[in-house]
Amino acid sequence: HAKRLNAQLATVFIDVDLFKHINDSFGHSIGDEMLVELAKRLRSQLREQDVLSRIGGDEFVALVSGIQQLEDANLVIEQLRQVFEQPFVVSTGDHLRLTASMGVSIYPSDGANADTLLRNADAAMYRAKSEGRNNYAFYTESLTKESIEHLKLQSALYGALEQNALYLMYQPKLDLVSRKTIGVEALLRWNDPVLGQISPGVFIPVAEKIGLIYDIGLWVLETACLQGVRWLAEGKPFGRIAVNVAGQQLQRSSFVEDVKRILAETGLPATCLELEVTESVMMHNPDTAIRDLKLLGDLGIELSVDDFGTGYSSLNYLKKLPIHKLKIDQSFVRDIPFDTNNTAIAKAVIALGHALKLEIVAEGVETQEQAEFLTQNLCDQAQGYLFSRPLLPADVEAFLAK
Ligand code: C2E
Ligand code: CA
Ligand code: CA
Ligand code: CA
Repeated sequence: HAKRLNAQLATVFIDVDLFKHINDSFGHSIGDEMLVELAKRLRSQLREQDVLSRIGGDEFVALVSGIQQLEDANLVIEQLRQVFEQPFVVSTGDHLRLTASMGVSIYPSDGANADTLLRNADAAMYRAKSEGRNNYAFYTESLTKESIEHLKLQSALYGALEQNALYLMYQPKLDLVSRKTIGVEALLRWNDPVLGQISPGVFIPVAEKIGLIYDIGLWVLETACLQGVRWLAEGKPFGRIAVNVAGQQLQRSSFVEDVKRILAETGLPATCLELEVTESVMMHNPDTAIRDLKLLGDLGIELSVDDFGTGYSSLNYLKKLPIHKLKIDQSFVRDIPFDTNNTAIAKAVIALGHALKLEIVAEGVETQEQAEFLTQNLCDQAQGYLFSRPLLPADVEAFLAK
């Protein structure tokens, strides 16, 4: 049929999760009742020209024609999934909930005949189930839910810069002995009008993948510098503003010039800026990375290695890097002093850093115990929810005035 229409066809394999469990606890008749109701509900979500068949105990197949693009297939899945949002009311009066796993294959790319399409939809369904029930997957890897989410993010991210959907929050960093604020870290936020608030842990990797991180990184730097200049003019003692730099930014030969230009244009003294880089900067071209970091350091910018201990830590390179600070990653700060491994790692990083004449900052400090332990073990600075969450500029001002 689809061949004649020259359109694409989605084969959706639907398998109810844990159905045997319902039959075992409530009896077969309840199970049959639910399946009839389920078939009706699934059918009502499809158009007249689509086909729904029950092919086994609790397995259904839907054939949906007219699929032109990813979004169409995604929409069909969303509609079929809605069926499971309402509980099933059975003759005993019980309200039961069902979930299902779904697998999708698309004609003609995933198969030219019914057998292949069905087999591939079934394979996709098994993959969905293995990733946790109540899930779905496309047969073709490139069409999985995750990449659809990524596609959505990608196109939205292109607009984010122009639409002013990006903004910065600032998290204070404190000296552990005096408990005074010695700096703030700029953390990027994205509030998309359609997708809502998206975490940088999600969208930064996407921005890196599509090569948008460079422009976004420049925007962050410029915005943070302008904020710093404003605080300087108002006499707010914020210390240094730290900006995160992705590996890809430092790999561009224009990065040092761009930083110089932004400092000049905004008027922020280099001594008010800190750049946080990860160990990954050393992965490609360590020699150019070392040279560029040295140029930045010579300007008066403070340089920190972020997430220290989670990446590519060659002590040989660490020794050569012209840096001033190590930030102990929050995964090592978690549960100290109770987790003996993390406690040993934190102590070792502090000792290593001090031996290399570096300052040590602990990130993700949430409890008084952590702060006390770090202070006793001579960690220099700390950052975390215990002291302050990331704040909007006005709240930073209030924090500094405390
Ligand atoms: P990061 O640089 O390691 O930043 C620290 C993260 O830990 C931030 O998450 C911060 O909000 C969070 N955090 C701070 N204190 C605590 C605490 O006490 N407990 C816990 N559980 N978390 C705490 P956020 O803002 O979601 O950022 C995540 C990551 O995204 C950052 O990790 C950084 O790698 C990246 N990122 C954020 N802004 C930028 C940016 O402007 N450019 C680049 N390249 N990366 C950025
Ligand atoms: Ca089943
Ligand atoms: Ca950071
Ligand atoms: Ca971190």
